[in-house]
Amino acid sequence: MNIAVFGAGYVGLVTAVCLAAQGNKVTVVEKDRDKLEKLQEGRVTFYEPDVDSLLDAAMSSGQITFTSDSAAAIAPAELLFICVGTPALPDGSADLSQVEAVMRTILKHLSHYQIPSLQQEAEGKLVVVKSTVPVGTGDRLSRMAELHMQSIGAAVPIEVASNPEFLREGAAVHDFLFPDRIVIGVGSARGERLLRELYRSFECPVLSTDTRTAEMIKYASNSFLATKISFINMVSDLCDKVQADVTHVAKGMGYDRRIGEQFLKAGIGFGGSCFPKDLQAFAAVGRKHHVQVELLEQVIRINQERPVKLLEKLKDALWVMKGKRVTVLGLTFKPHTDDVRDCPASHVIAGLLREQAEVVAYDPVGMANFRAAYPELSARMRFADNAYEACDRSDGIVLLTEWPLFKELDWVRVLAKMETPYLLDARHYLIDEELGKLGFVCN
Ligand code: NAD
Repeated sequence: MNIAVFGAGYVGLVTAVCLAAQGNKVTVVEKDRDKLEKLQEGRVTFYEPDVDSLLDAAMSSGQITFTSDSAAAIAPAELLFICVGTPALPDGSADLSQVEAVMRTILKHLSHYQIPSLQQEAEGKLVVVKSTVPVGTGDRLSRMAELHMQSIGAAVPIEVASNPEFLREGAAVHDFLFPDRIVIGVGSARGERLLRELYRSFECPVLSTDTRTAEMIKYASNSFLATKISFINMVSDLCDKVQADVTHVAKGMGYDRRIGEQFLKAGIGFGGSCFPKDLQAFAAVGRKHHVQVELLEQVIRINQERPVKLLEKLKDALWVMKGKRVTVLGLTFKPHTDDVRDCPASHVIAGLLREQAEVVAYDPVGMANFRAAYPELSARMRFADNAYEACDRSDGIVLLTEWPLFKELDWVRVLAKMETPYLLDARHYLIDEELGKLGFVCN
């Protein structure tokens, strides 16, 4: 199929290279000049396993091209994927300006100059929204298209579908190619046929529904997963008070197949570019429709308190924080990605600096992005070249990202470098008993 993808971020580029790998002809439209130039040279603009090899292959076979020329991408495409950002507005609702801008671009290029040829195309175009958007966005986009066509006195066959993306950063290519399910929200048999055709080689359930329901499925799924995380963190606080082991509680719960072990990891809570903003946006949708969303608000509140509770623990252990050297291991919101958007590390580091602690951080891939995203924090902390250097004369280590590299450290060597052997593993990733035997004080 001939496909246009708008937005070459984590979702857009992964979608594009995976669809190209399956033999589709993909044109990616990216508005950021810098990104575009790098992509045109075959360079991936973020860290995500396997994207570079798929990009290489797709460029060599000519299956993928990158452009800023929307018209050239739109004209031949049957499917137009919208993969742009939907960040949070100050009130928590989703900012849909990027999505709307892409739709305007599409409509502009389907204006009277193209209509004669388009009308000859019996099939027309399917605009597919992959960005995470609140319920009703697809309807709005359809209405935009209708109004535009009315205003220019033509009926261009254009339909809007929803196809939410469930990939996880760090495993994005795998998740795209081997999803648990594909959700397609469509308003016509033709739209359904086109998307089923696109995904025909995928061996997973394909749920076909209307656009509003598809939009709801994405927010409901993310909100449910976030709820599991905040639930186990609430249990963790209680475990701390009653001297119970939350990792065993989670394990004991997780063996129950109705519950499942995933997303039951107590710790610093969720971050990243999706869960925090999607929860806020879902709650905003609920409020708009006068539905009680206290459950979601509590999930958000519990999560926002995690860095505060971590700092309390740290202060309890190190007492006076002023001038104490604290090592932060891990800046990205999860391992195997360089994404630091709304990462727990930013909140923890801000708190440490408020306490006038000296912060030294190390992350194997996230330091450049952290510097760019948080310039004010970065100017007041130090970045080390490796984990050992970060631990030099440290009064305490806080582990915030489960990078495998941290498990493989020579912890005897780390201990020898430290001023005080304190380690707070905010991900329950390392094995406390083993570190305890070495002489670390862990909690
Ligand atoms: P991103 O910020 O990494 O990428 C968005 C890209 O779109 C940027 O490169 C930006 O320059 C480009 N862009 C913006 N306006 C454009 C325009 N008019 N024309 C062309 N390009 C334009 O965002 P992302 O993380 O890829 O997320 C995109 C959407 O997918 C969001 O709605 C997000 O919630 C959703 N999502 C993200 C993930 C994830 O793990 N990142 C997973 C599932 C769904």
